Amino acid sequence: MPDVTTRQFTHLHVHTEYSLLDGACRIDRMFEHLKSMGQTACAITDHGVMYGSVAFFDAAKAAGIKPIIGCEVYVATRTRFDKVNRIDGNSHLILLCKDETGYKNLIKLVSAGFIDGFYSKPRIDKELLEQHHEGLICLSACLAGEVPKAILAGDYERAKRTALYYQDLFGEGNYYIELQDHGLEEDQVVLPQLMRLSRETGIPMVATNDAHYITKEDAKMQSILLCIQTGKTIADADRMEFQTDEFYLKSADEMYDLFSMVPEACENTNKIAEKCNFEFTFGDTKLPYFRAPDGMENQEYFE
Ligand SMILES: [Zn+2]
Ligand SMILES: [Zn+2]
Repeated sequence: MPDVTTRQFTHLHVHTEYSLLDGACRIDRMFEHLKSMGQTACAITDHGVMYGSVAFFDAAKAAGIKPIIGCEVYVATRTRFDKVNRIDGNSHLILLCKDETGYKNLIKLVSAGFIDGFYSKPRIDKELLEQHHEGLICLSACLAGEVPKAILAGDYERAKRTALYYQDLFGEGNYYIELQDHGLEEDQVVLPQLMRLSRETGIPMVATNDAHYITKEDAKMQSILLCIQTGKTIADADRMEFQTDEFYLKSADEMYDLFSMVPEACENTNKIAEKCNFEFTFGDTKLPYFRAPDGMENQEYFE
Protein backbone atom coordinates (compact mmCIF):
# COMPACT_ATOMS: atom_id res chain seq x y z
CA MET A 1 0.00 0.00 0.00
CA PRO A 2 1.48 3.38 -0.95
CA ASP A 3 2.68 5.78 1.68
CA VAL A 4 -0.02 8.29 2.67
CA THR A 5 2.06 11.18 1.35
CA THR A 6 2.50 9.63 -2.08
CA ARG A 7 -1.07 8.44 -2.54
CA GLN A 8 -2.26 9.40 -5.98
CA PHE A 9 -5.81 9.05 -7.24
CA THR A 10 -7.51 9.93 -10.54
CA HIS A 11 -11.24 10.56 -10.80
CA LEU A 12 -12.56 8.57 -13.78
CA HIS A 13 -16.31 9.06 -13.24
CA VAL A 14 -17.24 12.75 -13.25
CA HIS A 15 -20.45 14.55 -14.21
CA THR A 16 -19.86 18.18 -15.12
CA GLU A 17 -22.47 20.88 -15.61
CA TYR A 18 -22.93 19.40 -19.11
CA SER A 19 -24.84 16.48 -17.56
CA LEU A 20 -27.78 18.86 -17.77
CA LEU A 21 -29.72 19.37 -14.51
CA ASP A 22 -27.89 16.36 -13.08
CA GLY A 23 -24.20 17.20 -12.81
CA ALA A 24 -23.03 20.28 -10.97
CA CYS A 25 -19.23 20.13 -11.30
CA ARG A 26 -18.56 23.56 -12.78
CA ILE A 27 -15.69 23.24 -15.22
CA ASP A 28 -14.31 26.67 -14.32
CA ARG A 29 -14.04 25.69 -10.64
CA MET A 30 -13.26 21.96 -10.53
CA PHE A 31 -9.60 22.07 -11.54
CA GLU A 32 -8.56 24.45 -8.75
CA HIS A 33 -10.09 21.97 -6.35
CA LEU A 34 -8.34 18.96 -7.95
CA LYS A 35 -5.03 20.83 -7.92
CA SER A 36 -5.43 21.78 -4.28
CA MET A 37 -5.72 18.05 -3.54
CA GLY A 38 -2.58 17.28 -5.58
CA GLN A 39 -4.37 15.35 -8.32
CA THR A 40 -2.79 15.38 -11.77
CA ALA A 41 -5.45 13.93 -14.10
CA CYS A 42 -9.24 13.77 -14.33
CA ALA A 43 -11.88 12.34 -16.68
CA ILE A 44 -15.12 13.82 -17.94
CA THR A 45 -17.97 11.29 -18.20
CA ASP A 46 -21.17 13.19 -18.75
CA HIS A 47 -24.39 11.27 -19.20
CA GLY A 48 -24.90 10.28 -22.84
CA VAL A 49 -23.27 13.43 -24.23
CA MET A 50 -19.85 14.80 -25.08
CA TYR A 51 -20.47 18.49 -25.65
CA GLY A 52 -18.51 19.46 -22.56
CA SER A 53 -15.34 17.82 -23.89
CA VAL A 54 -13.63 20.85 -25.45
CA ALA A 55 -14.36 23.22 -22.56
CA PHE A 56 -13.17 20.52 -20.16
CA PHE A 57 -10.02 19.80 -22.18
CA ASP A 58 -9.08 23.51 -22.42
CA ALA A 59 -9.68 24.20 -18.73
CA ALA A 60 -7.74 21.08 -17.68
CA LYS A 61 -4.77 22.00 -19.89
CA ALA A 62 -4.77 25.58 -18.56
CA ALA A 63 -4.67 24.19 -15.01
CA GLY A 64 -1.89 21.70 -15.82
CA ILE A 65 -4.14 18.66 -15.28
CA LYS A 66 -4.28 15.79 -17.75
CA PRO A 67 -7.77 15.61 -19.31
CA ILE A 68 -9.32 12.21 -20.10
CA ILE A 69 -12.24 12.37 -22.52
CA GLY A 70 -15.06 9.92 -21.90
CA CYS A 71 -18.78 9.43 -21.50
CA GLU A 72 -21.19 7.54 -19.27
CA VAL A 73 -23.31 6.02 -22.00
CA TYR A 74 -26.73 4.40 -21.78
CA VAL A 75 -26.90 0.86 -23.14
CA ALA A 76 -30.35 -0.28 -24.32
CA THR A 77 -31.87 -3.27 -22.52
CA ARG A 78 -32.56 -5.01 -25.86
CA THR A 79 -31.42 -3.18 -29.02
CA ARG A 80 -31.28 0.56 -29.63
CA PHE A 81 -34.31 0.21 -31.94
CA ASP A 82 -36.58 -1.38 -29.30
CA LYS A 83 -38.75 1.19 -27.57
CA VAL A 84 -41.52 -0.53 -25.63
CA ASN A 85 -42.75 0.99 -22.39
CA ARG A 86 -41.66 -0.95 -19.26
CA ILE A 87 -39.51 -3.38 -21.27
CA ASP A 88 -36.89 -1.18 -22.92
CA GLY A 89 -34.84 0.75 -20.43
CA ASN A 90 -31.10 1.27 -20.23
CA SER A 91 -28.01 0.49 -18.19
CA HIS A 92 -25.05 2.78 -17.58
CA LEU A 93 -21.51 2.12 -18.84
CA ILE A 94 -18.34 4.23 -18.60
CA LEU A 95 -16.21 4.61 -21.75
CA LEU A 96 -12.84 6.44 -21.77
CA CYS A 97 -10.74 7.37 -24.82
CA LYS A 98 -7.24 5.92 -24.97
CA ASP A 99 -6.37 7.46 -28.32
CA GLU A 100 -7.75 9.07 -31.46
CA THR A 101 -9.37 5.80 -32.63
CA GLY A 102 -11.19 5.61 -29.30
CA TYR A 103 -12.34 9.21 -29.58
CA LYS A 104 -13.68 8.66 -33.11
CA ASN A 105 -15.48 5.53 -31.96
CA LEU A 106 -16.96 7.29 -28.96
CA ILE A 107 -18.38 10.15 -31.03
CA LYS A 108 -19.91 7.59 -33.41
CA LEU A 109 -21.49 5.76 -30.46
CA VAL A 110 -22.85 8.89 -28.83
CA SER A 111 -24.29 10.19 -32.13
CA ALA A 112 -25.95 6.84 -32.89
CA GLY A 113 -27.43 6.90 -29.39
CA PHE A 114 -29.32 10.07 -30.30
CA ILE A 115 -30.13 9.24 -33.93
CA ASP A 116 -31.34 5.62 -33.56
CA GLY A 117 -31.52 4.85 -29.88
CA PHE A 118 -33.24 7.78 -28.23
CA TYR A 119 -35.90 6.54 -25.85
CA SER A 120 -36.08 8.84 -22.83
CA LYS A 121 -32.24 8.77 -23.01
CA PRO A 122 -29.78 8.48 -25.91
CA ARG A 123 -29.09 4.74 -25.92
CA ILE A 124 -26.46 2.67 -27.71
CA ASP A 125 -26.45 -1.13 -27.77
CA LYS A 126 -24.15 -4.15 -27.89
CA GLU A 127 -24.16 -4.27 -31.69
CA LEU A 128 -22.71 -0.74 -31.81
CA LEU A 129 -20.18 -1.56 -29.08
CA GLU A 130 -19.06 -4.60 -31.05
CA GLN A 131 -18.35 -2.30 -34.04
CA HIS A 132 -16.85 0.67 -32.18
CA HIS A 133 -14.96 -0.53 -29.08
CA GLU A 134 -11.41 -0.08 -30.41
CA GLY A 135 -9.32 2.47 -28.48
CA LEU A 136 -11.71 2.62 -25.53
CA ILE A 137 -11.41 1.60 -21.89
CA CYS A 138 -14.65 0.42 -20.33
CA LEU A 139 -15.69 0.52 -16.65
CA SER A 140 -18.76 -1.33 -15.37
CA ALA A 141 -20.37 1.90 -14.01
CA CYS A 142 -22.58 2.70 -11.02
CA LEU A 143 -25.48 0.79 -9.42
CA ALA A 144 -27.35 1.43 -12.70
CA GLY A 145 -24.72 -0.55 -14.65
CA GLU A 146 -25.64 -3.93 -16.12
CA VAL A 147 -23.35 -5.92 -13.80
CA PRO A 148 -24.44 -4.29 -10.49
CA LYS A 149 -28.09 -4.49 -11.59
CA ALA A 150 -27.79 -8.25 -12.09
CA ILE A 151 -26.26 -8.56 -8.61
CA LEU A 152 -29.07 -6.46 -7.08
CA ALA A 153 -31.57 -8.74 -8.86
CA GLY A 154 -29.91 -11.67 -7.06
CA ASP A 155 -28.51 -13.12 -10.28
CA TYR A 156 -24.76 -13.40 -9.67
CA GLU A 157 -24.26 -15.77 -12.62
CA ARG A 158 -25.75 -13.22 -15.04
CA ALA A 159 -23.50 -10.53 -13.54
CA LYS A 160 -20.49 -12.76 -14.15
CA ARG A 161 -21.54 -13.62 -17.73
CA THR A 162 -22.05 -9.93 -18.47
CA ALA A 163 -18.65 -8.96 -17.06
CA LEU A 164 -16.94 -11.71 -19.07
CA TYR A 165 -18.76 -10.55 -22.22
CA TYR A 166 -17.41 -6.99 -21.78
CA GLN A 167 -13.92 -8.19 -20.92
CA ASP A 168 -13.91 -10.31 -24.06
CA LEU A 169 -15.22 -7.43 -26.18
CA PHE A 170 -12.84 -4.70 -24.98
CA GLY A 171 -9.91 -7.05 -24.46
CA GLU A 172 -7.84 -7.76 -21.39
CA GLY A 173 -6.61 -4.60 -19.70
CA ASN A 174 -9.41 -2.51 -21.22
CA TYR A 175 -12.28 -3.56 -18.98
CA TYR A 176 -12.56 -2.94 -15.23
CA ILE A 177 -15.05 -3.79 -12.52
CA GLU A 178 -15.97 -0.44 -11.02
CA LEU A 179 -16.25 -0.18 -7.24
CA GLN A 180 -18.25 2.64 -5.68
CA ASP A 181 -19.26 3.34 -2.11
CA HIS A 182 -21.51 6.31 -1.47
CA GLY A 183 -22.84 4.94 1.80
CA LEU A 184 -25.98 3.55 0.19
CA GLU A 185 -27.60 0.32 1.37
CA GLU A 186 -27.27 -1.15 -2.15
CA ASP A 187 -23.51 -0.48 -2.15
CA GLN A 188 -23.12 -2.89 0.75
CA VAL A 189 -24.98 -5.58 -1.22
CA VAL A 190 -23.13 -5.02 -4.49
CA LEU A 191 -19.55 -4.33 -3.33
CA PRO A 192 -18.67 -7.76 -1.86
CA GLN A 193 -20.15 -9.48 -4.93
CA LEU A 194 -18.16 -7.27 -7.31
CA MET A 195 -14.96 -8.12 -5.45
CA ARG A 196 -15.84 -11.81 -5.59
CA LEU A 197 -16.50 -11.47 -9.32
CA SER A 198 -13.10 -9.87 -9.82
CA ARG A 199 -11.40 -12.65 -7.82
CA GLU A 200 -13.17 -15.38 -9.78
CA THR A 201 -12.62 -13.91 -13.25
CA GLY A 202 -9.32 -12.05 -12.86
CA ILE A 203 -10.95 -8.87 -14.20
CA PRO A 204 -9.22 -5.95 -12.43
CA MET A 205 -11.10 -3.53 -10.17
CA VAL A 206 -11.12 0.26 -10.22
CA ALA A 207 -12.44 2.60 -7.54
CA THR A 208 -14.48 5.61 -8.57
CA ASN A 209 -16.69 8.16 -6.89
CA ASP A 210 -19.75 9.12 -8.92
CA ALA A 211 -18.88 12.81 -8.76
CA HIS A 212 -21.87 15.05 -9.42
CA TYR A 213 -20.53 18.12 -7.58
CA ILE A 214 -17.18 19.46 -6.44
CA THR A 215 -17.32 19.50 -2.64
CA LYS A 216 -19.52 17.88 -0.01
CA GLU A 217 -21.10 21.28 0.70
CA ASP A 218 -22.35 21.42 -2.91
CA ALA A 219 -24.77 18.53 -2.25
CA LYS A 220 -27.50 21.05 -1.45
CA MET A 221 -27.06 22.74 -4.82
CA GLN A 222 -27.34 19.32 -6.48
CA SER A 223 -30.69 18.70 -4.69
CA ILE A 224 -32.03 21.97 -6.08
CA LEU A 225 -30.84 21.05 -9.58
CA LEU A 226 -32.64 17.69 -9.35
CA CYS A 227 -35.82 19.49 -8.22
CA ILE A 228 -35.64 21.67 -11.34
CA GLN A 229 -35.14 18.57 -13.49
CA THR A 230 -38.07 16.67 -11.98
CA GLY A 231 -40.43 19.64 -11.49
CA LYS A 232 -40.51 19.37 -7.69
CA THR A 233 -39.67 21.75 -4.86
CA ILE A 234 -37.24 21.23 -1.98
CA ALA A 235 -40.31 20.97 0.31
CA ASP A 236 -41.80 18.02 -1.63
CA ALA A 237 -41.48 14.87 0.46
CA ASP A 238 -41.64 12.55 -2.55
CA ARG A 239 -39.00 14.30 -4.68
CA MET A 240 -36.21 12.28 -6.27
CA GLU A 241 -32.96 12.97 -4.46
CA PHE A 242 -29.52 11.53 -3.83
CA GLN A 243 -29.69 9.67 -0.54
CA THR A 244 -26.28 10.77 0.75
CA ASP A 245 -23.94 13.76 0.27
CA GLU A 246 -21.00 11.60 -0.84
CA PHE A 247 -21.14 12.32 -4.59
CA TYR A 248 -18.26 14.82 -4.71
CA LEU A 249 -14.65 14.97 -5.94
CA LYS A 250 -12.96 13.23 -3.02
CA SER A 251 -9.29 13.44 -2.08
CA ALA A 252 -6.89 10.54 -2.64
CA ASP A 253 -6.86 9.92 1.13
CA GLU A 254 -10.64 9.72 1.29
CA MET A 255 -10.69 7.24 -1.60
CA TYR A 256 -7.85 5.03 -0.27
CA ASP A 257 -9.50 5.01 3.15
CA LEU A 258 -12.88 4.10 1.66
CA PHE A 259 -11.33 1.19 -0.27
CA SER A 260 -8.63 0.22 2.23
CA MET A 261 -9.44 -3.46 1.63
CA VAL A 262 -8.51 -3.15 -2.08
CA PRO A 263 -5.82 -0.45 -2.51
CA GLU A 264 -5.13 -1.75 -6.04
CA ALA A 265 -8.57 -0.46 -7.07
CA CYS A 266 -7.34 3.07 -6.30
CA GLU A 267 -3.91 2.49 -7.83
CA ASN A 268 -5.56 1.30 -11.04
CA THR A 269 -7.12 4.75 -11.55
CA ASN A 270 -3.62 6.10 -12.22
CA LYS A 271 -2.73 3.19 -14.51
CA ILE A 272 -5.86 3.90 -16.56
CA ALA A 273 -4.99 7.62 -16.64
CA GLU A 274 -1.57 6.71 -18.08
CA LYS A 275 -3.21 4.68 -20.85
CA CYS A 276 -5.55 7.51 -21.88
CA ASN A 277 -3.65 9.92 -24.09
CA PHE A 278 -6.13 11.41 -26.50
CA GLU A 279 -5.51 15.09 -27.27
CA PHE A 280 -7.53 17.52 -29.36
CA THR A 281 -5.63 19.40 -32.05
CA PHE A 282 -6.98 22.89 -32.60
CA GLY A 283 -6.19 25.41 -35.32
CA ASP A 284 -5.49 22.75 -37.95
CA THR A 285 -8.19 23.30 -40.63
CA LYS A 286 -9.39 20.06 -42.17
CA LEU A 287 -11.19 20.85 -45.44
CA PRO A 288 -12.57 18.08 -47.65
CA TYR A 289 -10.56 17.63 -50.86
CA PHE A 290 -12.42 18.64 -54.01
CA ARG A 291 -11.50 17.20 -57.38
CA ALA A 292 -12.82 19.01 -60.50
CA PRO A 293 -14.51 16.81 -63.13
CA ASP A 294 -13.02 15.76 -66.50
CA GLY A 295 -9.44 16.09 -65.33
CA MET A 296 -9.73 19.87 -65.08
CA GLU A 297 -7.54 21.90 -62.73
CA ASN A 298 -9.57 23.03 -59.68
CA GLN A 299 -8.70 26.70 -60.25
CA GLU A 300 -9.65 26.51 -63.93
CA TYR A 301 -12.97 24.80 -63.09
CA PHE A 302 -13.75 27.35 -60.42
CA GLU A 303 -13.11 30.29 -62.75
ZN1 LIG B 1 -24.38 5.92 -13.62
ZN1 LIG C 1 -22.42 8.51 -13.04
